[in-house]
Amino acid sequence: MPTPHVTPFVLGANSYFYHPENAFLGKDLEYFSQAGFDMDHVQLKRNAPVAELYEDAIRYEGAIISASGALINFSGKKTGRSPKDKRIVYEETSKDDIWWGPVNIKMDEHTFEINRERAIDYLNTRDNVYVFDGFAGWDPKYRIKVRVVCARAYHALFMNNMLIRPTEEELAQFGEPDFVIYNAGQFPANRFTTGMTSTTSVEINFKRMEMVILGTEYAGEMKKGVFSVMHYLQPVKFGQLSLHSSANIGMEKGDVTLFFGLSGTGKTTLSADPNRELIGDDEHVWSDTGVFNIEGGCYAKCINLSAEKEPEIYRAIRFGSILENVVFNPANRLPDYDDVSTTENTRCAYPIEYIPNARIPCIADQHPSNIIMLTCDAYGVLPPVSKLTSAQAQYHFLAGYTSKTPGTEDGVLEPIPTFSTCYSAPFIVLHPGRYASMLASKMESTQASCWLINTGWVGGKFGTGSRCPLKYTRAIINAIHSGSIASATYTTYDIFGLQIPTSVEGVPSEVLNPRMAWEDTEAFEKERIRLANMFAKAFKGFEDQVDSAVKSAGPTVTI
Ligand code: ATP
Ligand code: MN
Repeated sequence: MPTPHVTPFVLGANSYFYHPENAFLGKDLEYFSQAGFDMDHVQLKRNAPVAELYEDAIRYEGAIISASGALINFSGKKTGRSPKDKRIVYEETSKDDIWWGPVNIKMDEHTFEINRERAIDYLNTRDNVYVFDGFAGWDPKYRIKVRVVCARAYHALFMNNMLIRPTEEELAQFGEPDFVIYNAGQFPANRFTTGMTSTTSVEINFKRMEMVILGTEYAGEMKKGVFSVMHYLQPVKFGQLSLHSSANIGMEKGDVTLFFGLSGTGKTTLSADPNRELIGDDEHVWSDTGVFNIEGGCYAKCINLSAEKEPEIYRAIRFGSILENVVFNPANRLPDYDDVSTTENTRCAYPIEYIPNARIPCIADQHPSNIIMLTCDAYGVLPPVSKLTSAQAQYHFLAGYTSKTPGTEDGVLEPIPTFSTCYSAPFIVLHPGRYASMLASKMESTQASCWLINTGWVGGKFGTGSRCPLKYTRAIINAIHSGSIASATYTTYDIFGLQIPTSVEGVPSEVLNPRMAWEDTEAFEKERIRLANMFAKAFKGFEDQVDSAVKSAGPTVTI
């Protein structure tokens, strides 16, 4: 017998349960007791003020306030996501839709119940339990109500920043949530529980519409949990296309751009643009009427962050923002963004309105004019910019190429190519073909221009070349938005069949063509063929789902 849905129901009212004058207290106490919560002991804090979350994080978790007022927190052992410990419950309502495999690993319903109860039991031992009620999705037609129940003030504040914050009235009328996250990340999963391969477990149950987290305190798991749910619900329930992308809109022309890309390729960095309004930095839905952000905040990388290169993001780090795993100088509380001794994945989570040009509500009533696919190619083979045909766009979306660079993980000495379908493999729930065909038909009907941008290496591969200077990438993006790149002269880039502009204002023309940018031509040709072969191998799995135009839109391989 599964445990009844008692917790969400009990928390549903618009009240702060810890206020003694709260009239619902007696009744709620009873429901809570039924669920096994010890209400003499546990205090529930629902949508607590940011200041109170600061105080609790400082008092109970040893958090620190930075010189600019951000809250510095540490997530413990795990400083990144744990994809190998992610599970999806195998149950009749969703089983036929899920793309089962190494990304979506099966878990049975009974094991979910065990872990769920373990999480609630743990939460029960805490003096304070935090609840945050908010929304995912800025379009009221397609949004869902999300409830987070957690034991750390830091986690509550993180979701306060990342979800869409309800108004007082919306909170009063919140009712029952559509999706609930139980985060007991401080407490491990039991390795003797069936199917547990470690003490970390991140699991989603689409029948219950719940997520349970054990054994990891990395806050990004909650954010991506909500994304997984939207990647399921948007296409299946609403018929809309969810995408791992950032988005912005021109202030004058009102033209929308989507930036697809895997982690570290530049979605957050490049979507913060002084000439454009930011719609969002990571998760969007391309709907029947336009584009809307799923989130209420941004989650920016802090590694090597500087006010000069990324002013908008740098200045968003202030009271209310959370700095995660960032080393600071205790003498003056200044964060040291160059120090990667805790992790390379240092982050800051802030409400989207902390970016000066944020578009609130984060929604555009027009379809994208430009689609930019970002890749960080450490082989220095892909050109800094090329124009894609519609078939090439579909090919690259399915292939989802970027490379992991040495330094980010132990033992990575050579760049590691990564093909992550839909630029989103760790978060996609349905078969990739479903997202890809929705994208193709949307692109077809809107005639958006499509560009492939390499934010990775130029003039040689990792070791000999260097990362494409941010100012060049920004100049390329400006040329896309002004329209000047469209009227440039193009040459064909051999093997990959890409169209490269011969000049872009603000970018030295030899940088635009890797063949000219590399000093060692022989080494270049070798790498180009090597990468082309990697693409061909990676694309094999998709060949039977696409038409011949898409199949032949990839690099032509000779070996
Ligand atoms: P995630 O999905 O993990 O949030 P992301 O796509 O948002 O990743 P960013 O946070 O924008 O990636 O990270 C890009 C990083 O690369 C930043 O630290 C940025 O400073 C750095 N960078 C260096 N050169 C470039 C470039 N030419 N274009 C974009 N980013 C660059
Ligand atoms: Mn990002």
